[in-house]
Order: sequence, then C-alpha cells, then structure tokens
Amino acid sequence: MSTNNNNVVIVGAGIVALTTALVLSKHEDLSITLVAKHMPGDYDIEYASPWAGANYFPVGAPGSNLQKFEKATWGELDRICREVPEAGIHHQHTVIYGRKKDVGTATGDWFKELIREDAWFKDVVPNFRILPKSELPPDCDTGTSFTSVCINTAVFLPYLLGQCVKQGVTIKRGILSHISEAASHHTSGTASVILNCTGLSASKLGGVMDPSVYPGRGQIVLVRNEPGVMVTVSGTDDGSEEATYIMQRAVGGGTILGGCLQHNSWESQPDPNLAQRIMERSIDLCPALAPKTGKVSELSIVRHGVGLRPMRKGGPRVEREKIGDTWVVHSYGHAGYGYQSSFGSAWEAEKLVGEILKEKAKL
Ligand code: FAD
Repeated sequence: MSTNNNNVVIVGAGIVALTTALVLSKHEDLSITLVAKHMPGDYDIEYASPWAGANYFPVGAPGSNLQKFEKATWGELDRICREVPEAGIHHQHTVIYGRKKDVGTATGDWFKELIREDAWFKDVVPNFRILPKSELPPDCDTGTSFTSVCINTAVFLPYLLGQCVKQGVTIKRGILSHISEAASHHTSGTASVILNCTGLSASKLGGVMDPSVYPGRGQIVLVRNEPGVMVTVSGTDDGSEEATYIMQRAVGGGTILGGCLQHNSWESQPDPNLAQRIMERSIDLCPALAPKTGKVSELSIVRHGVGLRPMRKGGPRVEREKIGDTWVVHSYGHAGYGYQSSFGSAWEAEKLVGEILKEKAKL
C-alpha cells in the first residue's frame, strides 16, 4: 500500500475496529491511529462488544455480504483457538434446535439460516451432523450439532488491543461529533483515510447519520455454572423477541445465558422479569446448569447485562464514501454477528483502503 500520505485513523475500539486495525497494521507502510470513546475494559450501553456471548453462529443468507464475511472469518477464529490460547477463545460442542412455530418471529427470522439442516456452513465448521428426532426435545422440529467457538470477550478484546499496540498502532481516547473530525486525530499529521467502525453510533454521528441503523436489544445473565454444551433454540413461548442460548466462555469467563432480540429498544437496564425467564428457560434446556435442585437459586450470578446490537436494514455496511475531502471506509451495522463476521469484514475494509491509497498514489 504505497502513497505519499499513508496516515489512517480508525474510529472505534469494538470488535470491528480492533480486528480492522490489526489487519491493517500488518502493512508496515501504514501509520495507524485508533481513536474511540470506549475501550476494552469499559462496560457501557454505547459499547456492544463486551456484552456479546460471543460465539460463531452463522446467520447470513446465501449470496449476501454477511455470509461472505462469516465464511471468511471461521478459519481465523479456528486458528486462534488452536494456536493462541491466551486470546480467550475455545472450541465448543454445539447443538442448535429449531421450532417450526418460530418462523416469522423476530428470533425465528434471525436464526433462519442457522437452524437449517442443509445450512451453507455445514462444510465450513467441523463435525456438522443432523440430529435424529430421537435426540430432539419434545417441542423442537429440527436439530443440528457441530463444533463452534466461544469467545471470552473480556480477554479477547484486550488481547486484540495489545496486538495492535505491538504492531505500532497508536491508541487514543476521543469523542467525535462528526466523522470528518477523525482526520485531525492522527498523531503525525492529517489522515488520508478514515475507518468508521462506530457500530450503533453510525445512526447519530455527524456526516454518517445512517437512518437504517437501529438498536437490537439483548439481555444476558452471566453465571459461574457450567453447561457442558453450547446450545440454542430458535424461540420460546414467552414472546416473539425471546430466544434461549447458552454458551460457556473460554478461560474462566463464565457462562452466558440469553436472551432476546428486541428491535428498536434503547433500554439500558436489565428487566428482572426477563432475567428470571432467561434463567428458568436455560435450566429447562440444560439441566446440567443446576444439577442439584433444577432451580434458578442454584445459579451463581456474576452479573446481569444489556447490550444494544448495531442492527442495520440491508446488513452490515462495508464500503467507501468520500465525505468532504477525505475518503471514509465504513464498517458498521454488524447487528448480532460482529464477532463471527469480524475478520471477513476487516479483510474487505483492507481491500477498500488499498484501492483508495493506490488511486491517491496515481494523482
Ligand atoms: P461497538 O462494540 O459498539 O463499538 C463501537 C466503538 O465505536 C466503541 O469503541 C465506541 O466508543 C466507538 N464510538 C462510537 N461513536 C463514537 C464517537 N462519536 N466518537 C468516538 N468513538 C465512538 N456477535 C457475534 O458474532 N456472536 C455472538 O455470540 C454475539 N452475541 C451477542 C450478544 C449480545 C447480548 C449482544 C448485545 C451482541 C452480540 N453480538 C454477537 C453482536 C456483537 O456484539 C456486535 O455485532 C459487535 O459488538 C459490534 O461491534 P462494533 O465494533 O461494530 O461496535
């Protein structure tokens, strides 16, 4: 990537920004500054990444950009699992159940591709198997199992930040009111390319204000109990925006019990009634969580949490746009799939940055 000015500013420090920064930092001729309001270690309603499970449950429709990004990302998550244990990712035996009655609900639509017995990712993840009827819970119609990953976000985000620093990326706190302000945040002059990785804030940030971006509220309970399996059902009988998912994070990260997908809700506080339903449904689905009593009181709670997924009508936006005099590469709107599409999105952003710098070099 050679040009006169190779200064790049990345706005954001969520999973999308950090993987993008890491991928770009492999280009030694780039000088990269990352600026963000929230950093790994923070817990805030404006910062989705720490709240994620996080696992690899592909949901992109065949032919979509999301599918392309998810497919591309698996290999890198799998490699990190095998080769970098300190990153906080591990493989998990995974079971997915589908119920016909969830078709057309908020969670049923979300999991449409995930629950398919002929899922496109059956040849991407290892050990994909269709479960026979005899292995399904009574109210479920389909089931598959495979090997996936679960990420301890409290370890993985700082790990990525550390890798960026090691690669020479400068990290700064800052709050932008307009995306063009990013250019002047570069530590050694003005930036020639800005990466906009602001998640849900892309709906409000000056110069972007994308009206198709909105929150998809997720509520979780983090417990110390161990489920022994990563498992999900496409819906529940408690409302069309509620689902059940259970995942044990790597290296002592506890177990995430979820959840819900509440479109257009900005509510930052946990709903205690929903928390109770999440815990009861989790024990019903996975009795190993409370082997002595089968009761919620047996769960050892670390914390309740709420995160707002950066939803976007039409899927994630990874594309270039000239705003004022500066090229911006957008990468936002990763909804409930920011981790599982992270490296794929980052490589797409890398391609766009390369194109821009090549064109500039010709001027
Ligand atoms: P964020 O993490 O929100 O980061 C945005 C960054 O931009 C922050 O650093 C913020 O400070 C910065 N920023 C924003 N505006 C400004 C500004 N004006 N000035 C400066 N900085 C700014 N995904 C999966 O792949 N697998 C899962 O299992 C999974 N589970 C989830 C469970 C829950 C409960 C939730 C809520 C989400 C889950 N997700 C999952 C989705 C995932 O968390 C998101 O897709 C991802 O975190 C989005 O990352 P991001 O970097 O785009 O945004």
